[in-house]
Amino acid sequence: MFLSSDSIIKATFEDKEASEICLKCGVCCILDTHHCPVQHDSKYHPKYTYVYDILGSNSPVDNENLWQCVSCHKCEELCPYEVSPVHFIEQVKAKAFRMGKAAEGIVSEIQSIIGSGYAFPVTDYSERQRKELGLPKIKIEFNELGIIAERTKLLEILAKYVEGKK
Ligand code: SF4
Ligand code: SF4
Repeated sequence: MFLSSDSIIKATFEDKEASEICLKCGVCCILDTHHCPVQHDSKYHPKYTYVYDILGSNSPVDNENLWQCVSCHKCEELCPYEVSPVHFIEQVKAKAFRMGKAAEGIVSEIQSIIGSGYAFPVTDYSERQRKELGLPKIKIEFNELGIIAERTKLLEILAKYVEGKK
């Protein structure tokens, strides 16, 4: 019988450890093609997978490996039990972000997207490469994401991160 991922998330993540639901079968992380890309890190292996590292943490929001997940959803596609670990991981990331625990690189990436629409800074090097490829210069125009960030209070949260660094 397949379990409903929505009901699992609702029923478990709020008040139980996600690891109680994950059967630790390793299917989503086995060393084969189409598995979790973070599993390539040599510290993980089929008996100690990346997903288990996060879901089984005593405090997932403090797990320094949390931000390695690229939200590719491969684990969701592969999990035979519809545990959909990426949904747990995304919830943990959101919680960690609100708690001011996001990795520094993540914060600067968000700032870059809000400011320019690009996840990485547009440099002279990237412009030279574009020119070589016959591509036009990148135009950084008014970005609607800025409005969304303001209305969702994301800008306020980012300001607190910046303040916290001083
Ligand atoms: S969503 Fe995250 S945990 Fe799942 S396969 Fe991709 S990188 Fe791995
Ligand atoms: S998330 Fe699913 S596939 Fe991955 S170890 Fe847990 S039960 Fe297995």
